[in-house]
Amino acid sequence: MRVVVLRYGHRVDRDKRISTHVGLVARAFGAEGMYIYGERDPSLVRSLAHVNRTWGGSFWVSWIDDYAAEIENWKQGGGKLVHLTMYGQDIQSVIGQIRAEESVMVFVGSSKVPRDVYRLADYNVAVGHQPHSEVAALAVFLDRLFEGQELMKRFNGALLTILPSKDGKIVIKAQGKESV
Ligand code: SAM
Repeated sequence: MRVVVLRYGHRVDRDKRISTHVGLVARAFGAEGMYIYGERDPSLVRSLAHVNRTWGGSFWVSWIDDYAAEIENWKQGGGKLVHLTMYGQDIQSVIGQIRAEESVMVFVGSSKVPRDVYRLADYNVAVGHQPHSEVAALAVFLDRLFEGQELMKRFNGALLTILPSKDGKIVIKAQGKESV
């Protein structure tokens, strides 16, 4: 299944850290890339590119100027739009249906999400009906979508790989050196 994220409304001064975390969660939990609609922020792209270089994979970030056109384009190609919102349907009641789709764009907000997104969405999905965070909502959504399998994902080309450890930090370097 193809999964991409659309991060709506990035503001450089207020959202730098949260948008970076949205990208980190998207990457680590199985999405292939992230569209961002909002103020251009080269430092965000650099941070995520650095994570790719160090920890592998090919997660991409792409700035967009017209979120509605991007969504329409995705839907024209047969993809579905999932909008994460506390006002949506319970995740537990729709996740099975979403899992059966071939490709999904997951829309998360920062500033107020415009009304048209609720209409464009094939699924408005709530991760509980309390306000929390786009980072938490995305993590829970992707984990339920992939049923935990995303945590087993291997990232190609990593400079560093962690060996699970009960009581320390074990990191394998690509050059074959091991550091503890
Ligand atoms: N004030 C904004 C608005 O009115 O649209 C929402 C701010 S909220 C911190 C940012 C994003 O987190 C939302 O757009 C939504 O994508 C996500 N979010 C927060 N709580 C959620 C929930 N309970 N279920 C699903 N998504 C949630």
